Amino acid sequence: MKPASASHAWASAKPPLLRFLDRCHQDFSAETGGSVADYIPELGKADPDHFGISLATLDGHVYEVGDTGVPFTIQSMSKPFVFALALDTLGATRVESTIGVEPSGDPFNSIRLNAENHPFNPMVNAGAIACTGLIHEARGAEAFEFIRQALSRFAGRELGVDEAVFASESATGDRNRAIAYLLRTNAVITDNVTAVLEVYFRQCAILVTARDAAIMAATLANRGVNPVTGEQVMTPYAIARTLSVMTSSGMYDYAGEWIYRIGIPAKSGVGGGILAALPARLGLGSYSPRLDRHGNSVRGIKLCEALSAHYDLHMLNRSDDARNSIIADYTIGKSPSRRSRRPQERKILATHQDAVRVFELVGTLSFSNVDYVSRQLATRPHPQFVIFDLRRVTAVTRAGARLLAEEFRELERLRVTVILSGIKRTSAGWKIVQEWTEGLTNLRDFYLLDTAIEWAEDQLVYRHGGAIDFDDITELSEQALLAGLSTEELTDLASLASVKTYRSGERIIAAGGPATSLYFLRSGVVHVTLPDGVRLATLTAGTTFGEMALLEPVRSADVSADRAASAFEIPLRDFERFRRQHPRAGERIMRNLAQLLAERLIVANAKVELLTSN
Ligand code: GLN
Repeated sequence: MKPASASHAWASAKPPLLRFLDRCHQDFSAETGGSVADYIPELGKADPDHFGISLATLDGHVYEVGDTGVPFTIQSMSKPFVFALALDTLGATRVESTIGVEPSGDPFNSIRLNAENHPFNPMVNAGAIACTGLIHEARGAEAFEFIRQALSRFAGRELGVDEAVFASESATGDRNRAIAYLLRTNAVITDNVTAVLEVYFRQCAILVTARDAAIMAATLANRGVNPVTGEQVMTPYAIARTLSVMTSSGMYDYAGEWIYRIGIPAKSGVGGGILAALPARLGLGSYSPRLDRHGNSVRGIKLCEALSAHYDLHMLNRSDDARNSIIADYTIGKSPSRRSRRPQERKILATHQDAVRVFELVGTLSFSNVDYVSRQLATRPHPQFVIFDLRRVTAVTRAGARLLAEEFRELERLRVTVILSGIKRTSAGWKIVQEWTEGLTNLRDFYLLDTAIEWAEDQLVYRHGGAIDFDDITELSEQALLAGLSTEELTDLASLASVKTYRSGERIIAAGGPATSLYFLRSGVVHVTLPDGVRLATLTAGTTFGEMALLEPVRSADVSADRAASAFEIPLRDFERFRRQHPRAGERIMRNLAQLLAERLIVANAKVELLTSN
């Protein structure tokens, strides 16, 4: 295919979800059953053919098909948000002692209270009017503005009011007046009924679009954080309870059927809107004013049915496999740090290779995933140090964090040191971990996994008497690259070298620069990093760096001193001359170099193998 036609094809690219919503819009536009509500006369003026579908994802993307910009009155879709507002501002005790949470099985406008003479739930009119009454009691004349601002935060924009619809309902809403007086004789409403109803009617006349409804729903699905503005609008407590009553009563006397078939918490309004909030997934908003006998939008219901069925989104039809949460589980025997070690240290680490165990985790640290990890950890080998690499962890649930903290406590009891890597102290995840692990004495963290492994190795070396003396001075004869050279050859080579000293943090080699000399680390520690910051190796006295100059004219990595260090520096030109004068030694060095590179390759391959074999 020619590139031109390929890019032309891309111009019509559409995410599959948008294609699906397009198709729903097309298919259900043919549906003309039901009728526009006219018990509030002004609502009867709506165009019955309007149809808008919007879906907001929790990363803040909003899909829109059809009439998603057409404003309509929110009506009963306001109820969940006002309930959440009441919970958060008046306290759960106050709200929950006034309004029940049982489904009534009755239509939305039923004039019936429960056995305690309280409203059944906040989704039917009686409960919603009571809820508005509570807010009116607390806020008086500012109650409506308080509600409007809260709903606006859910939508992520300033919402207005349809004064005509308000006036129309106010003039005709005798049934709601009857409900409100019933509430007052039962002391559920203590204020002036007319004033409370005015706020309630106004709240129902707030104008939204299908797009607004989707974003408001997505905020419910996102534990109260508006995914578009990022604002935490309500507390997770209020949101979870609101979704609960939406689940049991959001669709009135159709609620049981709804949750059985569709399985997504939802709320309808007689203005023609439906919003559906699938926790941790999406928010859906639809607008189509023709209603069925329950007062729910006919097309809206069809849309929700189709979305739930096509993508299998029923909230009770879920599964997860915790076994995918561990991407790699190994000990330092299989994958040591990139730190070069002297023979004595190597021996200690080889003997105790099972003492450091690494778990590389991926995805969400959820209840099931952390439980699974804790059981894997109980299998052999039993380490003294366990490193959890969280670099690929995307989220921590509260249950996961709690279980993790309990596991850390257990490890503390077993005298196992826990090391976390791959998590920045400035990240949100760190805050959660910290909150749950306060007071633990066995916890360490290093951003880089390699640094974490290196630290654990150092501890092991110390524990087993192999203390590393960083001021130790090594001779050229101890260099692996120079193994096999005669004393005479080494003396000749030494005469070409000058001893350089470096301060802690000083850069010795800069990536991109010309490679004009070789270095033999004499004392101290240096580290090799790629220009993107990845640490390739930590080197201690007795190792060579910059030796790639023998193969490549340009430096590919930075080398800096970790602490005060010194090195023998030999200019490449002098070194080449030495090789020509001592062909046997020259060949030996090149063989040693090949050997060192091969060892590095073997370690790198083992690492790749660990990560891909699971
Ligand atoms: N304002 C309407 C009423 O109270 C809301 C009802 C609804 O949307 N189901 O009757």
